Amino acid sequence: HAKGMGKGRFSHYQADMQAELVKQVKLDQELRQALQQRELELHYQPQFDQQRSLVGAEALVRWRHPERGLLLPGAFLRVAEEAGLMGEIGEWVLDEAIAQLSRWDHDGLCLPRLSINICPSQLSDDGFIDRLDARLAGSGLLPQQICIELTEQVLLPQASHVHQRVETLRDRGYAISIDDFGTGYSSLNYLKKLPVAELKIAREFVKDIPEGRQDSLLVKTILNMARNLGVDVIAEGVERIEQYEYLCQLGCPRFQGYYLARPMPAAEFARQLRFAYAVETESDFVIEEL
Ligand code: C2E
Ligand code: MG
Ligand code: MG
Ligand code: MG
Repeated sequence: HAKGMGKGRFSHYQADMQAELVKQVKLDQELRQALQQRELELHYQPQFDQQRSLVGAEALVRWRHPERGLLLPGAFLRVAEEAGLMGEIGEWVLDEAIAQLSRWDHDGLCLPRLSINICPSQLSDDGFIDRLDARLAGSGLLPQQICIELTEQVLLPQASHVHQRVETLRDRGYAISIDDFGTGYSSLNYLKKLPVAELKIAREFVKDIPEGRQDSLLVKTILNMARNLGVDVIAEGVERIEQYEYLCQLGCPRFQGYYLARPMPAAEFARQLRFAYAVETESDFVIEEL
């Protein structure tokens, strides 16, 4: 009897595995098609300072799936990585992000800086930085307008070539940000060794402030340390006014999160930018009249 049950459980497990495998293979094929059929798109999440002025945005990839609707990176980036498609997706992201920023610049919509996420295989690719430069050269943009976001996953190898690439990026004028700062094993080490312009306090530390005493202390410590090192800080995942006000109180200079704005399609982002200008122009006008 026990043997029968065991066997039943085993084949059930096998069936699960097989179903999962079939799903992955299907997703893999669909993703290859998605790249060809231009089903990927970038959404843009604004970043603000303490005066709530726009200081930049982060480009975040989405997949407009023909049947399943809009998919977030969590639903397809791992499969993309496993299928060896991250290089291609990463190149598409860079093309699209730089083309979009350049169009906005051309239209007079001033976005001070665009942050782009880079995956490990991109930074290890020998031609990565030259291709980045070439894209920019054709766009009329300056490297200073681009911030490269690197997670510990990218920096983990700690190999000298990784270190060198980050230095080259900095030397050529790009801003470097350490994403999800504090979640890795050696965040402090990167900060010491690499020419980083900004660190992004990970959402998991922001989540429970100001109530969570441990996390509040941690965030305070990160902010002090960054100040002492002359590194810029942005807090990500700011969802509530209490978090925002507490972070302001601690002197956090920059913010990104649902409380301020969600990621949105390019057209919506442009619309809001235009609206913000219109409001500003109007209030200037009112002040002049007085
Ligand atoms: P990330 O770089 O840390 O990006 C921030 C993530 O937090 C985004 O999730 C964003 O939508 C989400 N977020 C922003 N504000 C809030 C908030 O207030 N609350 C909560 N709960 N979430 C917030 P998303 O777009 O799902 O992206 C997830 C991750 O996928 C990114 O994390 C990044 O690691 C990766 N990713 C996204 N786009 C790209 C890309 O173009 N290339 C690469 N290599 N990775 C990407
Ligand atoms: Mg990021
Ligand atoms: Mg992050
Ligand atoms: Mg993250």
